[in-house]
Amino acid sequence: MTARRIDGRAAAQAIRDRVKTHVAEFERRTGRLPGLATVLVGEDPASAVYVRSKNRATAEAGMISFAHNLPDTTTEDELLQLVISLNADERVDGILVQLPLPSQIDATRVIETIDPGKDVDGFHPMNAGRLATGLPSLVPCTPYGCLLLLKSELDSLSGLDAVVIGRSNIVGKPMAQLLIGESATVTVAHSRTKDLPDVVRRADIIVAAVGRAEMVRGNWIKPGAIVIDVGINRVPTGDGKGRLVGDVAFDEAAEVAAAITPVPGGVGPMTIAMLMRNTLVAASRRAGLKDPEGL
Ligand code: NAP
Repeated sequence: MTARRIDGRAAAQAIRDRVKTHVAEFERRTGRLPGLATVLVGEDPASAVYVRSKNRATAEAGMISFAHNLPDTTTEDELLQLVISLNADERVDGILVQLPLPSQIDATRVIETIDPGKDVDGFHPMNAGRLATGLPSLVPCTPYGCLLLLKSELDSLSGLDAVVIGRSNIVGKPMAQLLIGESATVTVAHSRTKDLPDVVRRADIIVAAVGRAEMVRGNWIKPGAIVIDVGINRVPTGDGKGRLVGDVAFDEAAEVAAAITPVPGGVGPMTIAMLMRNTLVAASRRAGLKDPEGL
């Protein structure tokens, strides 16, 4: 391996430590603590693990966590009523509705019902539009975490060729907006892209957010590129437990790239750290305070 391994766990811990310090300052100035409400509908095991770690991180940052666990028979109306009550709850600064939702619930309606000022996932069209037009917004956690990892490797992204593989509203599109904001030249690739390996070979920066195990091969990567692997894919192992791999064939890519994020231990921890950061930012804005510095 010649590439540097980008340590997402260490970067995430540093952010969580800074959030904790700012939370103490927020309490001193406002007399209350920031609060994050999480909403989990149903019993999807992966979603339950994610929500539990988000609640734990909230408590560790010194913030208040309000956990709402609803049965998978919950109707869309019941969920919308809960979101409306959380919008009105003064103790709640951030609302996170864990996706995916059961099929009887339209996720778009739910996202559009969240108060944009409490939308710590940054998925509301108001926040997406503000990001696209360069206005202050709540930025989706995963792409924002990816950007911070890139900035830890590069003094400037200006003029660099970036390829984002994936165009989801959650990762690919906001990632592209953030890279444009840094003056990178951005290509967004997806399932209809022709000759993807050739497109990727042009990139100084590769962000893979596809959901296909080890799809990006070492010979797709330009020597010296920085590779951010968002993918989380479980592949079978002999013992029946399975193991997590990214969208990039790590060992091959690490022979060519300048730096690469591992899976696990790369982007994943940053997502939770940025959720903590967004909750603090949302609380600060609601309290009429300036955004916390250095986050
Ligand atoms: P998604 O909504 O399923 O989007 C996947 C994207 O990949 C789509 O735009 C799709 O193109 C594109 N794609 C699929 N097959 C392709 C192919 N053969 N060649 C090129 N592009 C292809 O997924 P997502 O929510 O963005 O998540 C992507 C991955 O990131 C998943 O593994 C997910 O688990 C992971 N993830 C990780 C974190 C984290 O915290 N680390 C957070 C979120 C997501 P079309 O649009 O044309 O269908």
